[in-house]
Amino acid sequence: MAREYDVIIVGAGMVGALTAVLTAQKGLTVALIDKHSGRYPLSTPPAYDARVSAISALSQTLLEQAGAWQRIAKERLAPYQRMAVWDGLGDGYVDFDVRYQQAASLGQLVENAALCDALMKSVHDTRGIDLYFDDAVASHQEQESGVEVVLASDRSLRGAVLIAADGANSNLRQQNNVDTVEWDYGHHAIVTTVEIDAAHEDTAWQAFGEEGILAFLPMPSVADKHYVSIVWSVSPADAEQLMALEEDAFCRRLTYAINRRFTALSLTVPRMAIPLRQRHAKHYVQPGFVLIGDAAHTIHPLAGQGANLGFADVSALVPILVKAHQRGDMLGSLKILRRYQRARMLDNIAMSASMEAFKRVFTTQQPAVVQLRNLGLKLCHKSPSIKQKLVAHAAGLNQ
Ligand SMILES: Cc1cc2nc3c(=O)[nH]c(=O)nc-3n(C[C@H](O)[C@H](O)[C@H](O)COP(=O)(O)OP(=O)(O)OC[C@H]3O[C@@H](n4cnc5c(N)ncnc54)[C@H](O)[C@@H]3O)c2cc1C
Repeated sequence: MAREYDVIIVGAGMVGALTAVLTAQKGLTVALIDKHSGRYPLSTPPAYDARVSAISALSQTLLEQAGAWQRIAKERLAPYQRMAVWDGLGDGYVDFDVRYQQAASLGQLVENAALCDALMKSVHDTRGIDLYFDDAVASHQEQESGVEVVLASDRSLRGAVLIAADGANSNLRQQNNVDTVEWDYGHHAIVTTVEIDAAHEDTAWQAFGEEGILAFLPMPSVADKHYVSIVWSVSPADAEQLMALEEDAFCRRLTYAINRRFTALSLTVPRMAIPLRQRHAKHYVQPGFVLIGDAAHTIHPLAGQGANLGFADVSALVPILVKAHQRGDMLGSLKILRRYQRARMLDNIAMSASMEAFKRVFTTQQPAVVQLRNLGLKLCHKSPSIKQKLVAHAAGLNQ
């Protein structure tokens, strides 16, 4: 006999878990399925998780509504007051600080594991969510009138709508033959946590140059020692070479690539290299079926916006589903689900296009483009109104 739900969500990562909590808070019944155990063991600082996310003001508000943000220990959060960006191949420089935003910080850095752990606690504390973890979808069928899912564990579920939040390589997206526009960025991102010799000044530092795109993202200091999480986007060949270096040699390359603004002293967690690919689903909805988060789109991490886009998807989708539920409408109706697609697709495409443009402009070494981009950075640095607009956009405040 199948269990009945309003919403069946596959994928309990940050986007799926947030969707589960916010819909259940409004009285919808939710099945949350993941192949993962749903446990996120946290390492002891300063061995911060190599994967971190810069969380915007809009995303933070949603995470607060879910009761998750409040559960992240203050010692694991790093608000940043300033972003400093420069061109290693010229004298272009721009910085943005908190004066351009009506908030205490430009955003907050948090380890993915700490964020998922907090969300999972909210999931457990929210009435109306049944968990199917360490499990997978064996078969599924969607129609406007309802959805049927059989799990690998042989359990059967019925729902009004199936939400795919199963990440970049979404099985559900592929099984439902949703085409994507996608290409390789020709970059791998090396991530790890690094001890540096001086205070990071609560600033996110980013250098573009012949050594690739390198971000030094502030993490909380421990016992007067200072740490940054790095995201270093380089060609696959350079990534292979950098990953093979001894720790000392890797730190020397890092120091050089950040223009000696800091000296990298040591790594507190092992390096990881993540291949970067842009993907965008050609449509986000089918009868009874919705794609959200990385299952719908992935972008280059150079502006730290991927998860924020996923949270913005949640912010658009949940009220649409809740309203339809309150009216007694079919949640899987294409007419209803298209409202979500209309609300999100253009913003997501615009962000993907900007990331592609940034990546192209900031990785070329063609002298004319290098000259032009340095000029652009300098002009931007002198224009408070441009800075204000860019900061508001990154915070998700003008969406
Ligand atoms: C180097 C790097 C740096 C980044 N930095 C930032 C940043 O600073 N700010 C930002 O906003 N974003 C950032 N991002 C993007 C961000 O990490 C992702 O957008 C975000 O993690 C996507 O969350 P998600 O829940 O959609 O997918 P995921 O986190 O991938 O979660 C998917 C879930 O689905 C489950 N799953 C997968 N397949 C199945 C299946 N078949 N059955 C059941 N369950 C399944 C998985 O176990 C997982 O729990 C960065 C990305 C990278 C690569």
